Amino acid sequence: MASSNTVLMRLVASAYSIAQKAGMIVRRVIAEGDLGIVEKTCATDLQTKADRLAQMSICSSLARKFPKLTIIGEEDLPSEEVDQELIEDSQWEEILKQPCPSQYSAIQEEDLVVWVDPLDGTKEYTEGLLDNVTVLIGIAYEGKAIAGVINQPYYNYENNEKQQLREHRNEAKAGPDAVLGRTIWGVLGLGAFGFQLKEVPAGKHIITTTRSHSNKLVTDCVTAMNPDAVLQVGGAGNKIIQLIEGKASAYVFASPGCKKWDTCAPEVILHAVGGKLTDIHGNVLQYHKDA
Ligand code: AMP
Ligand code: MG
Ligand code: MG
Repeated sequence: MASSNTVLMRLVASAYSIAQKAGMIVRRVIAEGDLGIVEKTCATDLQTKADRLAQMSICSSLARKFPKLTIIGEEDLPSEEVDQELIEDSQWEEILKQPCPSQYSAIQEEDLVVWVDPLDGTKEYTEGLLDNVTVLIGIAYEGKAIAGVINQPYYNYENNEKQQLREHRNEAKAGPDAVLGRTIWGVLGLGAFGFQLKEVPAGKHIITTTRSHSNKLVTDCVTAMNPDAVLQVGGAGNKIIQLIEGKASAYVFASPGCKKWDTCAPEVILHAVGGKLTDIHGNVLQYHKDA
């Protein structure tokens, strides 16, 4: 392991703070009440003001600090001057205390490709299923996903709601304060952090799959696996979190639709804890900028 002051670890530390800022933007747009929904290719392929603002914030913040990076965001946006208020220039110092895996210590900015999904689970976001939503920043080197950050802006959302209900009923209990939102990060060869790794209950085969983008192939494939239970939830990031937190044993989506910005960061977190993400043929996914 090399010292942490490498390009990769500085980038991950910045991506952590930038993803947190994007998560705040995602919450602010809901709070302000105007989602500004636009249909992209069809009624289940949506973009909101939160997708737009979060992507502007993430991509501009990264580009200012790391001008030689290749940054690819999901949303097609006009190139315009980004409001200074959207720029995040801090970095998460805890990450800089961690050593950089030695195989990545000589990486230069221009060697890296960053895949950005500013808001994963947009359809669910527009329907109020807020805990399905994540902000994804994945980092690839030589076509391989090697580091990633996932912000879940509404982690603890239900807990907070319940807490408020209890308070309204005057039965608030002492206990850990539920903080809204969390950030998970990982680097291959170092590990994944910001959550509690859990196994699914022994002997249970629980499949998690799409909620908004299903078709016959997807449902036939899930059925053929004869699971004990099927969870249909939004978001690629959200489904990977279900795997690492022991809520599901496998994420099955036998259909085109997921893009590299959907899988890059989640794949790293899964691989860092010993899981595996592949295409339908079992091949590893490629994250070159032209792939
Ligand atoms: P889902 O599991 O349906 O939440 O999908 C995971 C990610 O892949 C989301 O970012 C979706 O927008 C994207 N996705 C999956 N299938 C499709 C599709 N048929 N059209 C557009 N986006 C899709
Ligand atoms: Mg997505
Ligand atoms: Mg998205």
